[in-house]
Amino acid sequence: MDIRTVGIVGAGQMGSGIAHVFALAGYEVLMADISREALDGAVASIERNLDRQASRGKISDADKAAALSRIRTTLTLTDLGPLDLIIEAATERETVKQAIFEDLRPHLKPHTILTSNTSSISITRLASRTDRPEKFMGFHFMNPVPVMQLVELIRGIATDEETYRTLLGVVERLGKTAASAEDFPAFIVNRILMPMINEAVYTLYEGVGNVKSIDESMKLGANHPMGPLELADFIGLDTCLAIMNVLHEGLADTKYRPCPLLTKYVEAGWLGRKTQRGFYDYRGPVPVPTR
Ligand code: NAD
Repeated sequence: MDIRTVGIVGAGQMGSGIAHVFALAGYEVLMADISREALDGAVASIERNLDRQASRGKISDADKAAALSRIRTTLTLTDLGPLDLIIEAATERETVKQAIFEDLRPHLKPHTILTSNTSSISITRLASRTDRPEKFMGFHFMNPVPVMQLVELIRGIATDEETYRTLLGVVERLGKTAASAEDFPAFIVNRILMPMINEAVYTLYEGVGNVKSIDESMKLGANHPMGPLELADFIGLDTCLAIMNVLHEGLADTKYRPCPLLTKYVEAGWLGRKTQRGFYDYRGPVPVPTR
């Protein structure tokens, strides 16, 4: 199937990154959010990131202008109904995602493919709430989307081959690499990454190290480009906690229990970079560890 128009639900850090790469690859993009501020912020951040790519010679000024001209925004979710492909990238909460797919349902074209960028929620369960589980897939981009090469493609139990092949073609046109994962909690990348981040938070909670020593140890001792706590702040601590809860509940194994300190940061509203405070405080010129 030929995809030309793409609807993105949620204009947060992932939605804006996804809009950026699709517009640059020539797709017409319509982004929906419940917050006008989020939509305006997304367009501003896409413009900044395109500027950075242009100044590094990765794209031309004409590419940048063309990409921006392909992005439109709306506060009315149902405007996305007639598009070829919908990518849901709203907050990582199952009730939020279910409500979005239910609201879209009467407005979709028969050919529309539905996808979710969820990091962990069951694709089969989300698909079962729609009228087209055979045209539903997990379409999991990595953060930051314009930089990261991988896209996980997750088939639900009912996903048909045509939908999978269509999305493989889309990933190729974006210049990215697809990895297929089975529909089990958190798929591949987060099944491995999140328990490591959670363990880093336990290491902090138990006083084995502080924020700086934990991050430095993993950067210099394991050759990771970012420390696990720095990475958690980057992903969003609410998203990290939500994924650990899905692993814990979905696999029913105590080894996935979220660290109480992670819960405490989320309860404080210290969600990482997006709220200027998490394991580091980003309000000054340089990030300062909070423990
Ligand atoms: P975010 O908090 O930056 O953005 C979420 C956006 O969704 C917000 O702008 C919010 O206003 C909007 N939203 C909430 N309810 C909505 C609704 N009913 N309709 C429309 N918009 C709504 O979150 P994010 O980090 O961009 O994550 C979004 C999704 O992407 C989540 O499912 C997350 O698991 C997944 N994801 C995140 C990362 C990451 O590193 N942060 C990586 C891969 C996938």
